Amino acid sequence: MKPPSVRHQVVDVPAIAGGRPVRESMLPFVRVIVDAQAEAAVTAVLRSGWISQGPVTERFEAAMAAYIGAPHAVAVSSCTAALHLLLRAAGVGPGDDVIVPAMTFPATANAVLHAGARPVLADVDRCTLALTPQTVAAAMTEHTRAVIAVHFAGEPCDVGSLAQAAGSRPLTMLEDAAHAIGASLDGAAAGCLGDGAAFSFYATKNLTTGDGGMAATRHEDWAARMRVERLHGIDVDASRRAGASYTHWEAITLGFKYNMTDIEAALGLAQVAHIDAAIERRRVLERRYRDALAGCDAVELLAGREGARGSAHLFVIRIVPRALRIDRDGVLKAMLAENIGVGVHFRALPAHRFFRAQGLLAEQAPVAMESSERVLSLPLDAALTEQEQDDVIAALLRILGYYRA
Ligand SMILES: *Cc1c(COP(=O)(O)O)cnc(C)c1O
Repeated sequence: MKPPSVRHQVVDVPAIAGGRPVRESMLPFVRVIVDAQAEAAVTAVLRSGWISQGPVTERFEAAMAAYIGAPHAVAVSSCTAALHLLLRAAGVGPGDDVIVPAMTFPATANAVLHAGARPVLADVDRCTLALTPQTVAAAMTEHTRAVIAVHFAGEPCDVGSLAQAAGSRPLTMLEDAAHAIGASLDGAAAGCLGDGAAFSFYATKNLTTGDGGMAATRHEDWAARMRVERLHGIDVDASRRAGASYTHWEAITLGFKYNMTDIEAALGLAQVAHIDAAIERRRVLERRYRDALAGCDAVELLAGREGARGSAHLFVIRIVPRALRIDRDGVLKAMLAENIGVGVHFRALPAHRFFRAQGLLAEQAPVAMESSERVLSLPLDAALTEQEQDDVIAALLRILGYYRA
């Protein structure tokens, strides 16, 4: 293995212990690059005379449906909104239990609570930090109606095998695909592996509209219901209301204000064409990280699944406690002192007092709880240069070397 090249003279002492930082300027954990083409697309909408949900949102939906290969795609304001609408479309409500992985962002469980149902924790696999058929089976109750599988870090879950864990019980299988645009399993795209999927276009995700989301589904009636519920529960889109011929619109159900705007859709549409190239770049960087850290026994890397093509949304390492004199938070602080931004994906749901108060308890998910204390995410985005990545690797190896047990 070639040692990483480092621009500055590196002494063995990490910055947090008095050494000189590997980087002079902060490397952010995620950098969002909006190219000139996307900027022009947004400007065109701003000048068009219509900036909320309208024709560009429709084009973005069509482009996303085609990209994923999903029959229906409904643009909304966030992944959280998409999960909420999907649960409602599936008929999930009070009295129903919905299985969620313990290792996820709060939004996955919040959507279940917004739907009036009860989130039930399932533990995750130590190597993928995702649900397994065994953990789903262990979390089943007599009221289980649905499972939300999170494609952790963009590595696709085998949703079909999770569904089989329920035995003969018919379960609604939803995908939290916030990390997983562009991911596939045995040739089937994330977003088409269950009954419905929710994508996030939040600022840190592989494709971003600033804030935004998309619900994909194979059920036509779900899509129709979500289109009405995302926009006040009225039966005609706002853009159509603004047309030349006036038609009375009518509120037909209790709706939400979950729509996307054409400004956001323009930003998203401009990225769909380049998403595969961006993901390919992420995969190259992911392989470089793997090669550089393969021989290091103070960290463990997540496992890929056979037949899976991940979207390389996150690069997550696990700190091996017995190999070091510091814990994950010690490594995290030392990385920041080297001017390297890092993340934690995630603190497991029972680590949050709100979810403990909802009955989501640590003892229900021991693997997630242990992982929650060990994981650290390194910078990985399509704009990261190899020189910057070498800085990340140099900083990490320097810290792990200095604090070796
Ligand atoms: C980011 C994220 C969400 C929430 O996405 P929003 O678009 O911000 O609502 C949900 N689930 C997971 C796993 C996420 O990482």
